[in-house]
Amino acid sequence: MNGKYSLYINGQFIETPKKQNIMNPSTGKVIAEVSVASEQEAQLVLASAREAFDRGPWPQLTLDQRKEFILRIAQGILDNAAELAQMETQNTGKPIKETTFMDIPSSAKTFEFMADNFINYLDEAEINIADEASAKVLREPMGVVVLIVPWNYPLLIACWKLAQALAAGNTVILKPSSLTPLSILELAKIIHKIGLPPGVFNVINGSGQELGETLCSDKRVDMISFTGSNEIGRQILQYSSKNVKKSIMELGGKSASIIFNDVDLEVAVNSSLVSIFLNQGQMCTAMSRLLVQDQIYDRFIESFVKKAKSIKLGLASDYETQMGPLISDAQRKKVLSYIEKAKAEGAKVICGGKIPENQELKNGYFFEPTILADVGAHSHIFKEEVFGPVVLINKFSGSDEAALLANSVDFGLAACIWSKDKILAQELAGKLNAGTIWINTYGMFYNQLPYGGFKQSGFGKELGREGFLEYVRFKSVICDQSKEGKPLVNYWYGF
Ligand code: NAD
Repeated sequence: MNGKYSLYINGQFIETPKKQNIMNPSTGKVIAEVSVASEQEAQLVLASAREAFDRGPWPQLTLDQRKEFILRIAQGILDNAAELAQMETQNTGKPIKETTFMDIPSSAKTFEFMADNFINYLDEAEINIADEASAKVLREPMGVVVLIVPWNYPLLIACWKLAQALAAGNTVILKPSSLTPLSILELAKIIHKIGLPPGVFNVINGSGQELGETLCSDKRVDMISFTGSNEIGRQILQYSSKNVKKSIMELGGKSASIIFNDVDLEVAVNSSLVSIFLNQGQMCTAMSRLLVQDQIYDRFIESFVKKAKSIKLGLASDYETQMGPLISDAQRKKVLSYIEKAKAEGAKVICGGKIPENQELKNGYFFEPTILADVGAHSHIFKEEVFGPVVLINKFSGSDEAALLANSVDFGLAACIWSKDKILAQELAGKLNAGTIWINTYGMFYNQLPYGGFKQSGFGKELGREGFLEYVRFKSVICDQSKEGKPLVNYWYGF
């Protein structure tokens, strides 16, 4: 076991009597013990974050002072990058190559980017209102923000939210998934060393079902930023509606990749493998529906299946591993149940569909890359998010049909278009009901661009100017400048 972790509240590491074991999904072994919060710690964290916002120095710091702290967090992540990557890999089963080259550096980069680019948006702006009054818009932090994050990109998603919330001057209560709190608790150690004022950044670990209502319905909280499933998103909206709190929701997806006849087949096949099997398919933007145009359909399937079968499953800690385990046995059972349901509806499993037989992997929660075909848009597997390494392939003839199929689900998170005809691709992008469209690429996220879904994939944005401004409230201040200080309202009743 690696160690023991406590909660981080009001600048202190707090051990609680209730503990929880954290597992390594590659081996099924316990790797750490983490304190679990009760109602008492939930009340403490709410009071601390509120106090730090209302009376602490954080919201009053100059933008340059705040920027300095944010940049030091970025540097702290980079200084500890190798350890954080190991930790994330052990806790999530995400291959070490991914955590080393993607999750950890990207986490640091978002802090840097917010500090260097967006903090200055908080400068107040004079607005010409063409009247005998001057006006300005003050851009203020929202206040106390609760950030609730899932287990698939624990540190990265937390850092997206945290960088924006802190840069805007909020105080934060961060609740990781109880499956994957370790990298976030390591981040708490880094932030503690940097000396952020107490109560500005807090981490509370525990079951969402036990802590969620207290955190999300409390009047001391001004905003909730949630990333996770639809089911829990709906619950959180109910809690937050009790006192009409601003909430942003980054929820599930069932994204489609549309592959036209004119593509370079090898490029489309290789990229489509990544777009579903990276992180074992446990990505909100996983392209879990491949819509392939009729003329290349058979050739695409042949090559796609052949290459999927050669993906190297292995321990996440091994640099050669291309696919690690799923997060838990429960998740694996869920994936299996979706496949059974798809089969009952007529789907054919043309690759995988089962737990690998390799003895080396028997203690982890591994699952083979799985490809389904021969079942159409009416099926559950076409519409529902599996959140595992399972993809369904369908055929289409023309671009209108592709758009219709892609848009025919309740989600609207992302989509891919593969074609050499960039005009056609751009036109199609305009017709797709999804928040992010990749043309001839996949999975590229940029701090400059807002990210977030449509329809039941949620609302609100992360990243980009729009994402940063989610954590800001706008106050209009109008000041009369009329001659002799007598504005129009003065004469309204004719006195
Ligand atoms: P989940 O909804 O089960 O849990 C997410 C978080 O909510 C966890 O921290 C959990 O502890 C907490 N939670 C659970 N019940 C709660 C409650 N009643 N009140 C408050 N918090 C509660 O999701 P998950 O299984 O961790 O993650 C997978 C889901 O996340 C998928 O649906 C995936 O598509 C989605 N996701 C979306 C995005 C996106 O950007 N749109 C990114 C990553 C993951």
